[in-house]
Amino acid sequence: MPTADYLPRHSLSHLFDLLQQHGYRLVGPQVIDGAILYRPLTAVDQLPSGTEQVQQPGQYRLIQTDSSRRFSWANGPQALKPLTFTPRETLWRSQLHEDGSLSFHETPEPATPTAVIGVRGCDLAALALQDQHFADDPYYRQQRDALLLIAVDCSHPADTCFCASTGDGPDAKAGHDLALTELDDGFLIRAGSERGKNLMTALPLTAASHASHQQAETQYRRASQQQRQLPTFDPAQLIHLGGHPAWDAVADACLSCGNCTSVCPSCFCFSESEVPELDGTASSHQRQWDSCFSEGHSYIHGHRFRPDTKGRYRQWLTHKFGSWVEQYGRSGCTGCGRCISWCPVGIDPLQVLAQLGDEPPTSN
Ligand code: SF4
Ligand code: SF4
Repeated sequence: MPTADYLPRHSLSHLFDLLQQHGYRLVGPQVIDGAILYRPLTAVDQLPSGTEQVQQPGQYRLIQTDSSRRFSWANGPQALKPLTFTPRETLWRSQLHEDGSLSFHETPEPATPTAVIGVRGCDLAALALQDQHFADDPYYRQQRDALLLIAVDCSHPADTCFCASTGDGPDAKAGHDLALTELDDGFLIRAGSERGKNLMTALPLTAASHASHQQAETQYRRASQQQRQLPTFDPAQLIHLGGHPAWDAVADACLSCGNCTSVCPSCFCFSESEVPELDGTASSHQRQWDSCFSEGHSYIHGHRFRPDTKGRYRQWLTHKFGSWVEQYGRSGCTGCGRCISWCPVGIDPLQVLAQLGDEPPTSN
């Protein structure tokens, strides 16, 4: 474990104050409508307290305990994605002038410097994937460059989590400015960037005791023992398994609702549309999240080339776990488990992958 200093629990407010003094808007986890959601906050008291959770295929439930821990849950339906890849945004506006000419105006909103508190390792890894995909996208980059990331190692993974087997958790591995390990009485804190190092110099830190390090080590080992694991399969072969019976079984259950792609921190598909003013003098060009599971996402020149759920599920799984490796150097899955918990019929892609991995390749 990297070297770390110690921040007593009652001094967490110093970190909040410091970030606000540096001009950051704070965003952090809060209990809203029975789930953990990232929302703007100003005080430590707004963080969850003693909140734990139960996640199973198709299930998500919070439990209240007497613990004073603030981060004793795994995740909620929302990762960092909405903060950088806005669910619906206007890319440009066009204006029709009296002389019949058109003018176009880009509309990137100025981004507010934002410190996100309580980021998980799996979501940092997903953010790194989105950084690759949107590297040249000015709308994404503007939001992304405004973020300061305060991670918290995951001490209470859910039964749906499998980040240990993807190598993305349960601790924060890369991409954070600061990372906290929550202990019973306080936090180990370590820097992941120069900005993080500078912030640490202004905090009331003490040297972490041997007992604190031992507690962190035990916690890490326990959090790494996850019951779900990514099964063994050949990513390059997935695309060649079109005739496998596993696709029929999953298509029978799948509602093609797109919940899994909405909650997935790395899914990046979008569609674009033109929204004209009623008087026809102006128009907004918008983009919004789309999904492998929507009917329109495979529409080209009057033809839907994935007309049924089987084709759409197959597209999602083979891309996420197969062709991403070729495109981005790794799988598109960081083991957060959200697609399992938030699927209304409890489909577990790990089971589908295990079935596909068990069988020899079949032809399309
Ligand atoms: S595929 Fe599922 S488990 Fe993997 S990152 Fe996306 S939502 Fe999380
Ligand atoms: S796998 Fe589940 S969440 Fe995803 S589209 Fe099908 S029913 Fe919806």
